[in-house]
Amino acid sequence: MAERIFLSSPHMSEEGYEQQYVQEAFDTNWIAPLGTNVNEFEKELAEMVGSKAAAALSSGTAAIHLALKAAGVGAGDIVFCSSLTFSATANPIIYQNATPVFIDSDEKTWNMDPDALEEAFKKYPEVKAVLLVHLYGLSADMDRIMEICNQYNVTVIEDAAESLGGYYKGQHTGTFGDYGIFSFNGNKIITTSGGGMLVSNNEEKVAKARFWATQSRDQARHYQHSELGYNYRMSNVTAGIGRGQLRVLKQRVEKKKYIFEYYKRELGHLDGVEFMPVNEWDSPNYWLSSLQLTGKIRPIDIFEALEKENIESRPVWKPMHMQPFFKAYDFVGKGVSEKLFEDGVCLPSDTKMTDNELKLVVDIIKQCFKMDYGTF
Ligand SMILES: *Cc1c(COP(=O)(O)O)cnc(C)c1O
Repeated sequence: MAERIFLSSPHMSEEGYEQQYVQEAFDTNWIAPLGTNVNEFEKELAEMVGSKAAAALSSGTAAIHLALKAAGVGAGDIVFCSSLTFSATANPIIYQNATPVFIDSDEKTWNMDPDALEEAFKKYPEVKAVLLVHLYGLSADMDRIMEICNQYNVTVIEDAAESLGGYYKGQHTGTFGDYGIFSFNGNKIITTSGGGMLVSNNEEKVAKARFWATQSRDQARHYQHSELGYNYRMSNVTAGIGRGQLRVLKQRVEKKKYIFEYYKRELGHLDGVEFMPVNEWDSPNYWLSSLQLTGKIRPIDIFEALEKENIESRPVWKPMHMQPFFKAYDFVGKGVSEKLFEDGVCLPSDTKMTDNELKLVVDIIKQCFKMDYGTF
């Protein structure tokens, strides 16, 4: 059987940039702790997204955790959180012993619904922070969301783990709120094998996050700690991979866009197929090409047909308010995220895919639709 086609897997630069930076770390024996690659990776990423400061961390999840901590979120505090996301968005709220209230999606963006957000503010005016996601690289409706959040004077954290290289009205996602986070996990548009970044224009808070991330070591000759610490820093080897990957991010976004447009051109006209919404103000990174199936062909038909040919595909994220672990928490909305989950398909969007492989995926899906017509 042919090699498996993945949803999104690591893709190192053809030029070998990553190895050059990693080699530098080896040559100087600075594989750890910290070092030039970490400092430069922080600078390069902050500059690229247009943020004043960045902290390189061990994961995107760690970055969300420290953003919540920096926002002063603690025991008993309420945090509004996008429901349609990966659990790593919501888990750190629980790490802080705070209480999530899940917010529904807007059909127009698949992301946090500003109307549901407004409703939630009326119900929980004491809310401490809003944690929203830019799903699959599609940006949330930031103008409306920021307007509402500014009115209530609440801290905004953007989970841009999936949207590196994605812009809303020309401004990079993750830079509208007080804090933004990115992930370099193996399935993301660029990867360091694992890692994350916290960005903010508040340099003091970012310095504080670095302090917490290195076990909260006070300035003293002996080991002294006046605060709880974490081991959340990125290593100098990992950061070297990140610097190399950053140099090919633009190329990766172009390829992801090409994949999305290929699918849309070939499948967009099929009965009951609706692709994820790309709004006029959005320049997404097209991390995963996703669609909705509202006709007779169901997502499971596509998953099974592709799996038979050793091709990976998946449902859209299962909303947090539907997860057994989070079911006790409140949800504000009209069930849009539930429908997006039930009708959703994420297609293989690996940047190493060839045109032949894209054609294979498209042919298999078209075949599902043909078989359906055959039954009439
Ligand atoms: C991947 C991802 C994360 C977590 O990032 P890690 O680096 O794997 O910890 C958080 N939120 C979303 C939406 C993600 O897709």
